[in-house]
Amino acid sequence: MACYVIADLHLDVTRPELTQALRTFVASLKPQDELYIIGDLFNFFVGLDPEDVAQQAVAEMMGKAHENGVACYFIHGNRDFLLSKREAELLNLTLLPKLYYLERFSQRLLLTHGDIFCSNDLKYQAYQRKVNNKLLQWLFRRLPLSRRRAIGAKIRQQSASSVRYQSEIYGVVTQTVAQYCHNVDLLVHGHIHVLGTYHNEVPGLKARYVLGAWGQNLSYFKLDEQGATLYEQPLASWR
Ligand code: MN
Repeated sequence: MACYVIADLHLDVTRPELTQALRTFVASLKPQDELYIIGDLFNFFVGLDPEDVAQQAVAEMMGKAHENGVACYFIHGNRDFLLSKREAELLNLTLLPKLYYLERFSQRLLLTHGDIFCSNDLKYQAYQRKVNNKLLQWLFRRLPLSRRRAIGAKIRQQSASSVRYQSEIYGVVTQTVAQYCHNVDLLVHGHIHVLGTYHNEVPGLKARYVLGAWGQNLSYFKLDEQGATLYEQPLASWR
């Protein structure tokens, strides 16, 4: 049994190689393994879309994983925060809270997308407050799919530049990490798209693992009885 964590796949109908790599990755998991997808699985999610082949592929591969005894979980990112509990279930994923604390192999883990740690980027935090507004979300869900797609495409462009902005100028604020990491040994997050392992930044926290975005390479975190490891491999090796 092992625990796998991935983030920032940004699956999109225009990038079928990403979906294919995920299919191969998920098919390689063994019964009793756990897969945690900690946000930005989709490039932008505005609702279940019958024409979206990436969504169909996810539902299919996660369904197979489930039959194979692999549990697949999902935590919201900033691009797929609209995915509801029911929509996650239809994709054969179990939706978890934004900050998910768990213990595996005697390690206390925190899994979260990571945008919450970029607390100095006020522009981004203001955007987050807007898109997390429940009334706005309720209104948005009632728009026709074509309208939601158009708005999604616009937000996606803004969000992409926002992510670059914060990774270069602001990035993760260590004090904010500390606020959420009492009684945590290992923190795993994504969002900033730059792979990295940081030791002893915060008292008590042994390591912070940052997953890279999927593109030329894919990255994943693995925890089993041997310990914790962060991997980066060419996407092409998971065809
Ligand atoms: Mn993100």
